[in-house]
Amino acid sequence: MSALGNRKYRAGVLGATGMVGQRIVNMLAGHPWFELTAVAASERSMGKTYEQATRWHLETPIPEAARALVVKDLEPTLDCDFVFSALDSAVAGEAESVFARAGYPVVSNSKNHRMDADVPLLIPEVNASHINAIPVQQKNNKYEAGFIVTNPNCSTAGLVLVLKPLADAFGLEKLFVVTLQAVSGAGYPGVASMDALGNVIPFISGEEEKMESEPQKLLGKWDGNRFIDAGLGISAHCNRVPVINGHTECISVRLKKTATIEEVKDALRNFEVPAELASLPTALKNPVVVRDEDDRPQPRKDSEIGGGMAGVVGRVRECPLFDVKITLLSHNLVRGAAGAAVLNAELLAAKGFLKSRTAQGTGEVLARG
Ligand code: NAP
Repeated sequence: MSALGNRKYRAGVLGATGMVGQRIVNMLAGHPWFELTAVAASERSMGKTYEQATRWHLETPIPEAARALVVKDLEPTLDCDFVFSALDSAVAGEAESVFARAGYPVVSNSKNHRMDADVPLLIPEVNASHINAIPVQQKNNKYEAGFIVTNPNCSTAGLVLVLKPLADAFGLEKLFVVTLQAVSGAGYPGVASMDALGNVIPFISGEEEKMESEPQKLLGKWDGNRFIDAGLGISAHCNRVPVINGHTECISVRLKKTATIEEVKDALRNFEVPAELASLPTALKNPVVVRDEDDRPQPRKDSEIGGGMAGVVGRVRECPLFDVKITLLSHNLVRGAAGAAVLNAELLAAKGFLKSRTAQGTGEVLARG
C-alpha cells in the first residue's frame, strides 16, 4: 500500500504535452495511489489549458482531471508531491536538477541523468535495490528532499527485462542485438513521413551507444557507494521502421552456463517477480510472455499484451554463432517510457521515498479513489 494511506500522492508531469507525457497523464487517470495535479511544458504551451495545448495521440479521450489544468513553465513551483519528467532532452538535464534541488522527487524518462554516478537507472523487476543510491545522491548534491530516478531508453527497457531471467539462471557473457524501432520512439512529429514510409532508416542518433552502456548499469550492482557495471559484451544495431508502436529486437546471446532451448524458454516463462513488487499497481507478476508460434511476436498484434508492460518473446531457438536466438517485442511508450516511469514511482512510494508535500505545509489533498 501507498505510505499515504487513504490519500493520493499529487503528481506533476513535466513535458506533459509530448508523446510520453500524454501516456503518463493517461496512466494517472484512475491510478490508485497518484493523482495528476500539475502539468508543465514549453513556452508554446504555457498558459493554455492542457486540452488546448496538446495534440492528443491516444485513442481514449483526454482524462477529465487533465483537460482544464493550466500548463505551467519549468519553474519549480508546481503544486504536487513529485514530478514525472518527459521533457525533451535539450532541456531535461537542467530542469530535472532544478526540481530535485527545490525538493521534488523527479521520476525521469530522459537520457540526461541516466548514467550519473549516483542516479538510479531503474527497472523494478531487474534492479530495485539500486534505489539505495538515493541517499548518497542527496548527500552529494545537497538535495534535502528531492532526488532523481531514471528509466532506461525504450529499446534497452525491453531488452534488459528479458535478459534478467537469463542472467539469473545461466549468467550472460555477450550479446548481439538488432532493433526494428517504431516511429513513436522519436516523439512527435518525429521522423518525417517521407523518410519513414515504405522505408528502413539504419541510424537512430545515440541509440546504439545507449543500448551498449545502459544494460551494464542495470544488470550491475550498487555496492553502497557506487554502481559496478555488469561487464557484458554488447553490440547493437538500431533501425527505425514504419511501425507506430512497439520495438522489435532480434537478439543472439552467449550464456555462461550451457542450457537447452527448453531450459531457456522455462527460465523466461517462469520469471516471476517477488510478491512485494507484483503488488505494485502497474506491475505484472510474470513480466515476460513467451509465444510459441513461429510468426510472433508482431508489433500490431502483441504490443498491448500485459497493458504494454510485458516483454513479449518468441522464436527462441539455437544460435549457430552464440547459444540462443530470441525475438523480443516491447511497447516503447509503455514498458519503454510512461509505464516504466509510473512503475518506478510506485516502487518509490512503496519504499517510503515519496513524501506528501502537504506534510511540509503546502496544502492538503484527500484521496479520490
Ligand atoms: P516529444 O513528443 O517531442 O515531447 C517533448 C516534450 O518536451 C513536450 O511536452 C514539449 O512541450 C516539452 N518541451 C520541449 N522543449 C521544451 C522547453 N524548451 N521547455 C519546456 N518543455 C519543453 O518527446 P517524447 O517522445 O514524449 O519524449 C520525451 C522524453 O522521453 C525525451 O527525453 C525522450 O528521449 C524520452 N523517451 C522517449 C521515448 C519514446 O518512445 N518516445 C521512450 C523513452 C524515453 P511542448 O509541447 O510545449 O513543445
